Amino acid sequence: MLTVEHLSSRYGRIEALHDVTLHVAAGEIIALVGSNGAGKTTLLKALSGVQPIVAGRVRFDGREIQRIAAHRRVRLGLVQVPEGRQVFGPLSVEENLLVGAWTRGRAIADDLARIFVTFPMLADFRHRAAGTLSGGQQQMLAIGRALMARPRLLLLDEPSMGLAPLLIDQIFAIIADIRSQGVTVLVVEQNVQAALAIADRGYVLETGRITLEGSGRSLICDDRVRQAYLGVH
Ligand code: ATP
Repeated sequence: MLTVEHLSSRYGRIEALHDVTLHVAAGEIIALVGSNGAGKTTLLKALSGVQPIVAGRVRFDGREIQRIAAHRRVRLGLVQVPEGRQVFGPLSVEENLLVGAWTRGRAIADDLARIFVTFPMLADFRHRAAGTLSGGQQQMLAIGRALMARPRLLLLDEPSMGLAPLLIDQIFAIIADIRSQGVTVLVVEQNVQAALAIADRGYVLETGRITLEGSGRSLICDDRVRQAYLGVH
């Protein structure tokens, strides 16, 4: 579904991504893990079209998209949930969800109803200002808002950031549920154990380069991953 070939990206003189090659097949959950500043967010932004690239190619369903504008990539089905949720605080929960459907003309009411089934809490709070929700509730809203665009590939940036352990479990269960509804998922996480546990495959990014790849299970068992990210010595 998605292939990234030899992608590089810079902030001025800093090279944030170097020769990154990876792929995501339809129906997979792929985890992209790495420490602070490794380039994970930059990669997701490059895929969604808000971070320029200096070299490389991105194909989505066989079509080259690296020169396609970000808003058109959303219409193709490539939708990002940004780091830090970025919900519209003064707008209600329902209004935030409707903003997510900006690409769409029809069946919005049906999708809203489906989101409320997946996230009953959002239905309870549909008229509340999004800014009054807890961090975990805002994360669910940010995911719900992205689902309103009917993504085929959902890009999730640190969905568990700042959440209590119980909520982290809930978020990962929801990600698995989203995949079972036919949406392919690429998730960036610092919570390496939880992300690899639900991922079919994963990639490790270190200082802008992919240094390891493999099945979620094989990466959890890999000594290099265990020492660097799981605190096992
Ligand atoms: P984090 O988990 O902290 O979000 P990350 O793996 O997502 O880390 P990026 O945010 O992609 O990492 O950052 C990759 C590198 O690019 C880092 O060295 C970072 O300092 C640098 N960087 C990121 N954004 C900018 C920017 N707007 N201007 C200059 N340098 C930046």
